[in-house]
Amino acid sequence: MTSAELPAVPPVLRFAPSPTGLIHIGNARTALLNALFARRGGGRFVLRFDDTDPERSRREFADATEEDLAWLGIEPDLVVRQSERLPLYAETAERLKAGGRLYPCYETAEELERRRRVQLARGLPPIYDRAALALTDDDRRKIEAEGRRPHWRFKLEAREMTWRDLVRGDSRVDASSLSDPVLIREDGSYLYTLPSVADDAALGITHVIRGEDHVTNTAVQIQLFEALGAPVPAFAHHNLLTAASGEGLSKRTGSLSLRSLRESGLEPMAVASLAVLVGSAEAVRPVETMDELAGLADLGAISRAPAKFDEGELDRLNAGLLHAMPFASAAPGLAALGIGGGEEFWLAVRGNLARFADAALWWRVVSGPVAPAIEDAAFARQSADLLPPAPWGDETWKAWTAAVKDATGRKGKALFLPLRLALTGLDHGPDLASLLPLIGPDRSRARLAGETA
Ligand code: GLU
Repeated sequence: MTSAELPAVPPVLRFAPSPTGLIHIGNARTALLNALFARRGGGRFVLRFDDTDPERSRREFADATEEDLAWLGIEPDLVVRQSERLPLYAETAERLKAGGRLYPCYETAEELERRRRVQLARGLPPIYDRAALALTDDDRRKIEAEGRRPHWRFKLEAREMTWRDLVRGDSRVDASSLSDPVLIREDGSYLYTLPSVADDAALGITHVIRGEDHVTNTAVQIQLFEALGAPVPAFAHHNLLTAASGEGLSKRTGSLSLRSLRESGLEPMAVASLAVLVGSAEAVRPVETMDELAGLADLGAISRAPAKFDEGELDRLNAGLLHAMPFASAAPGLAALGIGGGEEFWLAVRGNLARFADAALWWRVVSGPVAPAIEDAAFARQSADLLPPAPWGDETWKAWTAAVKDATGRKGKALFLPLRLALTGLDHGPDLASLLPLIGPDRSRARLAGETA
């Protein structure tokens, strides 16, 4: 966000998922862009569950979404559920009816489909023909007497809708090319559009940041805000994330769910960094804090092309975060894993971690038990005899290996690898200069003697 984009009054933003599945990294992108914009502007961030469809919405998905966002570092200032706000939508619908903007229609899906085909065959755009507007009160009574219930359409004004999109720049959609959208179904339930606008107005939403699949909806929604006499928020439509294959992400298939990324042991900031920076002018890099990321979440820098997302990048970002992570940030996680060793241990091993939990492996190498791997028992015994007296520090490894080199004539790999295998049981790992003092004289002697210690 550049300072020119920052609103003069504290902004109010919202993330509005329908709780029909686990949220994925593309949803996280939308949530983060909204939450970070609010954070930068000293405003508020609302989590709104679009759960008016009782068939597909599930409370457990809403709860999972809240948990996943919290893991990512997003704590909303307010959580609302559309299923609890139905009176507001009924009242909004009444106002639209009174203003002549919401009208009852009785066509069946088959009738509409038949008309559509005729229009297409004649080379006409397949737009709803507003036949229902010609019905008289008498016609409606007769139809309803047959037991038919109306669905309700919003009467669009046939004009070009324009807005200055904070991502896409000047944007226009000709509303005369759109069908009057159905806002209320035959069973009285609401489609997404009316509750969304009613809530955005009632909650004082100042900025709507969402995926570019909503651009056409925006033209309709601006007319709705205007019909309700509500201020029209600013809009920003960001590019969508696609998998490396170019395929879109879907909540229903569970692709790249935040849950699965979290369970794979990734750091939340690795996921957040990629979700925000991919497909923008900013280089994708590990960002340590939300405040820093807020400074980089520039709506104007988001590209127009789809943001191709490579899952492998997450490993690179995760390693980058761990390798630079200060002890203070790591300490709670180390304690949770039952790892001691303090800052010395953390600084010794962080450069070798792909996942935070790998620290447990190195803690075991330090604190035992380790089964040493010894190829040449005589060499190991001779090396053990040359171990310097305690206390051990940063220089101990260098002094010891120099002494072993002098005594045995070994050097390079022939010197270092057998010592590493004996001391750690492994042929790779953190710098032994840092590990040796942590392993300590007793365990070192025992391991060099071939004992598990
Ligand atoms: N529930 C809608 C969706 O998930 C919200 C869109 C919007 O932000 O207005 O696509």
